[in-house]
Amino acid sequence: MKDFAITNIKNLVGVWEQSPLVPLRRNELADLPQLPNAWITVQDGLIADYGQGKLPNIYNELPHIDAQGGHVMPCFVDSHTHIVYAASREQEFVARTKGETYEEIAANGGGILNSAKRVATASEDELFKSAFERLLLCANQGTGAIEIKSGYGLSTESELKMLRVIKRLKSVSPIPIKATFLGAHAFPMEYKQNQQAYIDIIVNEMLPQIAANNLADYIDVFCDRGFFNIEQTRQILQAGKQYNLKGKIHGNELGLTGGVQAAVAENAISVDHLEYTSDEEINLLANSETIGTMLPSTAFFLGIPYPNARGMINSGAAIALASDFNPGSSPSGRMSFVISLACIKMKMTPAEAINAATINAAFAIEMQESLGTITKGKLGKLIITKPIPSVDYLPYNFGGDIIEKVL
Ligand SMILES: [Zn+2]
Repeated sequence: MKDFAITNIKNLVGVWEQSPLVPLRRNELADLPQLPNAWITVQDGLIADYGQGKLPNIYNELPHIDAQGGHVMPCFVDSHTHIVYAASREQEFVARTKGETYEEIAANGGGILNSAKRVATASEDELFKSAFERLLLCANQGTGAIEIKSGYGLSTESELKMLRVIKRLKSVSPIPIKATFLGAHAFPMEYKQNQQAYIDIIVNEMLPQIAANNLADYIDVFCDRGFFNIEQTRQILQAGKQYNLKGKIHGNELGLTGGVQAAVAENAISVDHLEYTSDEEINLLANSETIGTMLPSTAFFLGIPYPNARGMINSGAAIALASDFNPGSSPSGRMSFVISLACIKMKMTPAEAINAATINAAFAIEMQESLGTITKGKLGKLIITKPIPSVDYLPYNFGGDIIEKVL
């Protein structure tokens, strides 16, 4: 539906006449402007007008949606997912319930390498079909734009296969998609002793083909203990820059292992995970343009520490929230639960968490001009909630289903 009016809105949430030009930091992150007793119109798929009270007569021709006293807010932006994969990994989940750690499972050929084995044998059609189902699931749960990574290929053939699947998803998706090349997700078993040889394949084989076929918007590296070190990470991000791919980093998930340092040094658009940060990492981030993206459902699922969100916000770092939807460490793309965890476990206020999952997350995939706030001219990707007393009810009602309709 490209043209419609929503009436009878209890509160229109995240209303900015002018969209923020930079990510919200410090106290600004708690600024979630709301318009009570409101209506909104969408024309040609874009937010056209909004106001308070009765819908003006000039909009009577538009199809009406009665929000029935629900809230209307911008859709979530999920800036970090891995939804292209061939098989779930609940057997590793069971192993973890018996005491094995994620790192032990990965060291024994499970984890990312397990997913890579399955992707290698899956057909492009199979990968597309299952990823498309996950994409629709995310969209129905309120996600209005999504980033999807490769990284379960770990060979030129399979990485290109994953990226072609993402490109095909882009062509049929109801929501915008950004594609990220994550060939540096892990070292394949056969390169564990000769890491530079795998990096050479990424730089000399994968990247030129990806660029030639326009298969990626960003390049990502897992910079952590047992994965890529700072120097390797920087080398790969610099190679990506040659093809105009901006950097993203998986960093500081397993320890104080240099992910933030590498991200800031390479002016990465975001550094994601951040379960482990000291004052040094937080200060570096606060004095940079790099967005710190936190993935609390991963900390929840793996039982690892939650990121120090308060430290980052109080120091002035720009932060965002994402789902990390993937088969090993976060088999869920439910952003409303991510927001609940941010409030419950990271002591973010509901307003801060909603901004981090909408406008700041939009900055993390450079979609701030089309998503993340209620602003005229942005995409009419909107959530209508059930009749809830206030927007604070969203994280309070954790795991609940307060979304009535997604447009
Ligand atoms: Zn990830």
